[in-house]
Amino acid sequence: MIQPQIDYLIPKHPYENICYIIDDIKFLNKEINDVVYKVQDIILNEIMIVDLKIYLECGIVVSDKCNISFLKEMHERIGYPCNKDCTYSNDYNGSNACKPKLIKYCRIYEDNDKYKGELKPSITFEEIKKIYSD
Ligand SMILES: [Zn+2]
Repeated sequence: MIQPQIDYLIPKHPYENICYIIDDIKFLNKEINDVVYKVQDIILNEIMIVDLKIYLECGIVVSDKCNISFLKEMHERIGYPCNKDCTYSNDYNGSNACKPKLIKYCRIYEDNDKYKGELKPSITFEEIKKIYSD
């Protein structure tokens, strides 16, 4: 049968009780930190809205905003509308589009390195059509 641990109820010394309280606070602090890291991880990888700087192959730089999970999922498929006479542009979903060679992102209203990143799309328009046309 389970017995209560009476040793902990009555401290042998006044400071002993403080040690238990400190141990509880340490434990609570660790638990709270674990939750905070999990929430931060979800925010950084799935929720945050980012400002984009999209460097097109023809040299034009465009700005945009989107959700980080959408960006990570779709960055290979981005084709940005460009001029009709642009030598790098292709017909993409019925409009003239250029592929980005580099996408830099940063969380909106933040200038901290932990919220920044770069993505380099590597596949061509032909490969996009082949892979995603279904
Ligand atoms: Zn272009």
